[in-house]
Amino acid sequence: MIPFYAEELGNINALRITLSVPPTCDVAKTIEVKNNVLTLDGITVADLSSVNVQISADNLVVTRATETSEDGLLPWEIKLSLLQRSKILKSEQTEVKEWWTSKQLLKQPQQRQFQCKHCSQVLVDASTDFKIKDLPSEHWYELIECWICHETKPEEHRTRMKPILSRADVILVGTTYFLIHPENIKADSIEVDPIVAKRVNWERGTLTKWIAINCSYCKNAIGEGQYCIENNEEQLLAVKLYKYCIQLQPTLVEQPTFTDFLVSDLVNTAKTHATHRFLIQGQQSQHAFVLIWLFNWDINIIHNNGYSNDDCCKDDKLSRERVIKVIYLDCRKEDEDSKKCLKLWLNDKSTDHLIYPDRVCDELVNELNQSNLILPFYMRKMNHPAMIFTPNFSIGFIKKKT
Ligand SMILES: [Zn+2]
Repeated sequence: MIPFYAEELGNINALRITLSVPPTCDVAKTIEVKNNVLTLDGITVADLSSVNVQISADNLVVTRATETSEDGLLPWEIKLSLLQRSKILKSEQTEVKEWWTSKQLLKQPQQRQFQCKHCSQVLVDASTDFKIKDLPSEHWYELIECWICHETKPEEHRTRMKPILSRADVILVGTTYFLIHPENIKADSIEVDPIVAKRVNWERGTLTKWIAINCSYCKNAIGEGQYCIENNEEQLLAVKLYKYCIQLQPTLVEQPTFTDFLVSDLVNTAKTHATHRFLIQGQQSQHAFVLIWLFNWDINIIHNNGYSNDDCCKDDKLSRERVIKVIYLDCRKEDEDSKKCLKLWLNDKSTDHLIYPDRVCDELVNELNQSNLILPFYMRKMNHPAMIFTPNFSIGFIKKKT
């Protein structure tokens, strides 16, 4: 098979392909594009019809990408015209799919069980007839703050703005979690995370605190509990169950993964804070797992996994994926270079922190490293002297479902 990777450039209606061939093959002389099929010396390299992409050889440009060979193969770059409009509208780029909304939950009004995704322990008392309501955007408070500061008496508005509290027998549905009243949580099904609980300092900061909670049976992370101190005892006020840590019974048709919720968080935060830089931090360890820079919010890529070293992933079949293209730094190694870069990002106010359970952070970085292997070797890293925030960063993809 010939390793193949391509990006659809919607703004100029072009497809930019990289493929690698033995040094004896001159792609410029042997390439042919006919009936949507790209061939070299009569041998099919890619049939774009299989991924519903229409190409034409008008404006064909073929260039040798670099002189360095990898595994004895030389990479070439080919630019072709895309026949259909593949341009993704700007409004679509910043739109993200919502998973497990109140509307979907209400479609099947039968009693539904909320269970731990790992061990299926029931977390919410299923005998209750719940009201199901949507929560406003995670950033509603900031947005209103921005808006009322232009009013003549912002204080008056501020006193009326109260945080949203949990209510008994009501399931409040956020983008990535369900907010549930402690009365409705099944007795002894949750417990505070011992590592996080140890760090909590009640002498400082706010009167109520969100503390990570785990499933009491399998000890896996499932969300956060809001606690306060009353008569020298911790009192639970509300529970957030992360949608990616639980399962619903009977199941909904859609089974989103953590990545799907990460996409919501990245895009929604980027829209509100106008930031492109994210530090992904572990909830338990507080370690920085990865630094992520959103490079392209919405792009289609086509590949055959041919550049991956892993033989089991190799497949003659083309895949077309809608993704967010990111540049990232895996910080788990904790070497001097990544420590230096992390410090630079931490000192920059435009870096947004996103905190998730350690286990999912780890999985996320593994997935990013896996996606990096889709690319030809010479395209896997970005190391431009002018980009001081991203020295030796890797390029990766986060799948975007629509
Ligand atoms: Zn469990």
